[in-house]
Amino acid sequence: MKEAYFYKSIAESVICILCPHKCLIKINETGICAVRKNIDGKLYSMNYGRLSSINLDPIEKKPLMRFLQNTITLSIGSYGCNLSCLFCQNYCVAKRTPLIVYRTPEDIVNLAIEYDIPSISFTYNEPIVSYEFVLDTAILAKEKGIKCVLVTNGYVEASPLIHLLQYIDAMNIDLKTFSQDKYREICNGEVEPVKRTIRIANKFSHIEVTTLLVTGMNDKEAELLELFKWLAKVDRNIPLHVTRYFPCYKYEKPATGIAFARKVKRMAESVLSHVYLGNVR
Ligand code: SF4
Ligand code: SF4
Repeated sequence: MKEAYFYKSIAESVICILCPHKCLIKINETGICAVRKNIDGKLYSMNYGRLSSINLDPIEKKPLMRFLQNTITLSIGSYGCNLSCLFCQNYCVAKRTPLIVYRTPEDIVNLAIEYDIPSISFTYNEPIVSYEFVLDTAILAKEKGIKCVLVTNGYVEASPLIHLLQYIDAMNIDLKTFSQDKYREICNGEVEPVKRTIRIANKFSHIEVTTLLVTGMNDKEAELLELFKWLAKVDRNIPLHVTRYFPCYKYEKPATGIAFARKVKRMAESVLSHVYLGNVR
């Protein structure tokens, strides 16, 4: 574990100011993400260096289609997440404590150097709730000329995001729905902070956006078109991934139809320059 970088003390309690939940955490309790804990009046990152996965992946699998194309990335994940999507496709690491190995930032960067891998991707669970490990690793990686990638839900406050972006070269950011009600009801989050993350990150780093087409959550065509138009207004060259969903975790509605996914792709292409369809063979 490591003391957290973004929090404030109020008597014996702390307020975590890393993400928009801004959890007020009493002694011996954790925030909503369950991996940041108040110990004796200080906030600690409990998943520091505790990794659930270390893999080699094509960068296109993150998905990033227009960054370091045709290269391999060193994908690492820890555990925990600050959202609670009912359809979570990674619930084993986002909502459970999986088997872990301990690695330092130096271990990860040395692994990338040893295998001559040009980038490290923080992925699988939500990297924002591993902020300290991600930042420490990204600083070291930058010194060694290795690029860093975040695959994230974008649920982060502006200050920690801007600080981290100095060391991040590319991001894939989920924009789950344009409906505030559905963000709250199905993911326990808010849409505006995610839109802010997209706007800020686009100024500092290569970004791509993913919208999983979840049956009954974000499959109204008018609402999807509104989302695509908003993204095009930020920058029509941001690559967008529209991806089919499959029933998972606590959400059992049918998988996205292939014909519907193709229609949505065409709709997105009417306003955006680069649109990719995911989970369609
Ligand atoms: S990162 Fe975790 S502890 Fe901090 S505000 Fe977000 S959910 Fe709460
Ligand atoms: S943001 Fe991603 S990892 Fe977190 S609960 Fe939602 S789907 Fe799962």
